[in-house]
Amino acid sequence: DLDTAFFTAWIEEVARTVGAEKDRLTRLDAAIGDADHGANLDRGFSAITQALAGTEPETPGALLVLVGSTLIRKVGGAAGPLYGTAFREAGKALGDASEVSAADLAAALQAALAGVQRLGSAAEGDKTMVDALAPAVRALSRATQEGKDPEEAIGAAASAALAGSEATVPMQARKGRASYLGPRSVGHEDPGAASTALILAALRTVVT
Ligand code: ADP
Ligand code: MG
Ligand code: MG
Repeated sequence: DLDTAFFTAWIEEVARTVGAEKDRLTRLDAAIGDADHGANLDRGFSAITQALAGTEPETPGALLVLVGSTLIRKVGGAAGPLYGTAFREAGKALGDASEVSAADLAAALQAALAGVQRLGSAAEGDKTMVDALAPAVRALSRATQEGKDPEEAIGAAASAALAGSEATVPMQARKGRASYLGPRSVGHEDPGAASTALILAALRTVVT
């Protein structure tokens, strides 16, 4: 099962890849937003890395709640509160278990998605992070229901998130800053969908 060390490794891998891909995320946001998405997330995950150097959360749930609270505190704009809510809701869904199954993780990501949609009211097709997160949640839930091992289930979720992000290219944005561009938002990958794909890719990296 997946323990606190596993979740800590995930978050550290997210921090590392967000740092490495900060410029790509910012370029995506420059095309249809205000060119700060990479910098926003890097600030948040750097603060999380620092917080984790000082305290070691006792459970996966407590860790994810800490991640979410730090993102809400440190990252402004749309993505800070949305990702902050996502991680907090995922953490709350895991409760105080010291180890969780892939099915528990699927339920936690479902709670994260519900939190994002409650706060931002984006549906699939609106060209947001929801277009990567929703298919990832579906893939993870289906794979765990089919009894796939965590490695395969998480791999399927990461692939679905990447495909979902790539599928935002032809979409016209209906939520967030990119929606101000109307039809001119077509032809670009959504930065928040791209960062969600990175977060799921980091999960695959640490499970394999
Ligand atoms: P800001 O747009 O405030 O500068 P960021 O650049 O950090 O914030 O994040 C932009 C991303 O946030 C978008 O690419 C999109 O994926 C996501 N986003 C914006 N509004 C919403 C929303 N209402 N629901 C879900 N995601 C959203
Ligand atoms: Mg922005
Ligand atoms: Mg901004």
